[in-house]
Amino acid sequence: MGFADGDKGHAYIMKTKIIKVDIDNFQTKELEEAARVLRNGGLVAFPTETVYGLGANGLDKEASRKIYAAKGRPSDNPLIVHIAHKNDMEVLAKEVPEEAYKLADSFWPGPLTIILKKKDTVPYETTGGLDTVAIRLPANVIARELINQSKVFVAAPSANLSGKPSPTKANHVINDLNGRIDMIIDGGSATLGLESTIVDLSEGTPMILRPGFITKDMLENVIGPVQYDPAIIGTTIDPNIRPKAPGMKYRHYAPEGSLTIYSGELDKVITTINKMAREKLDKGYSVGIIATEETKDLYQYGIIKSIGTRNDEASIAAGLYEILREFDTLHTEYIYTESYSDNRYGQAIMNRLLKAAGYQIVNV
Ligand code: AMP
Ligand code: MG
Repeated sequence: MGFADGDKGHAYIMKTKIIKVDIDNFQTKELEEAARVLRNGGLVAFPTETVYGLGANGLDKEASRKIYAAKGRPSDNPLIVHIAHKNDMEVLAKEVPEEAYKLADSFWPGPLTIILKKKDTVPYETTGGLDTVAIRLPANVIARELINQSKVFVAAPSANLSGKPSPTKANHVINDLNGRIDMIIDGGSATLGLESTIVDLSEGTPMILRPGFITKDMLENVIGPVQYDPAIIGTTIDPNIRPKAPGMKYRHYAPEGSLTIYSGELDKVITTINKMAREKLDKGYSVGIIATEETKDLYQYGIIKSIGTRNDEASIAAGLYEILREFDTLHTEYIYTESYSDNRYGQAIMNRLLKAAGYQIVNV
């Protein structure tokens, strides 16, 4: 199978092997081949608890380069290196501060990425040219077993084509990367559905570079004061502030259609979305609405999809990327969504929604 891939670089013709692994009941030998592919410098997509990752040997610059080529990823956007044992931090980082051990003990395995100063053995191909390295020990047992068996440190960004929402199911990976990578491990849905929290411990006060399920409060309970990268908070984009995580500057997670977020009192939001949807439909455009279980029956126009329930914001986080992909599949031209509170997971959800919307947010 082959295809031309427009602006994504080269055309790829490669047989991608897809294997199914039951996360609740698998044997280590089911991952032998995937581990061997990684050890030999190949690319394997695998499930993690956050999103699917596209893995390669992070200490092998040629292998890392293949990740960028397969995704069409800008070369200055660094990869996260996944490890299977906490102390492997010491192999990758020049210095491991006390805070890193404390965070690792509290949140690993789990959805937290820690930035440290890199050792010379970590190639600049993996760190996007930076002198720091991002490290995570994932909770997903398939991911951990794969890393452990491969005996390499697995550099892995999200397993989507650059510019698409991160994949939360193997099908999303197949749609984006079939024919471009060696293997895909289908291990079911990523349970959390949003990428890891990134905290930078490489200099000064610890800084959150990307919000996620591990919140500022949770981090502060363990290591004291933590600050946000000024570029990632707020609902506007200031072209003069450069985010410290290079990836955060890209408008990724972007759907094909135009996405607008409406914030304010929920009943006003619903009225406004109904009005906007009606107007666009009258002009002949297709319209999609991202609703919740609580509000889905209150919308009157367009294709209405419920993302999850407001009683459990984790369900909304888990549903976000899939819903954006569904509207892409339908080539929906205008998409409207409600906004979410700033507490707990709300902040991570709003951070991704704002990026997907190119910061189009309207207060009603
Ligand atoms: P992804 O896993 O696809 O979300 O991409 C990895 C994210 O981690 C991107 O947003 C990167 O910019 C960020 N990242 C990786 N390494 C570093 C680093 N050394 N310093 C800052 N951000 C990093
Ligand atoms: Mg990504």
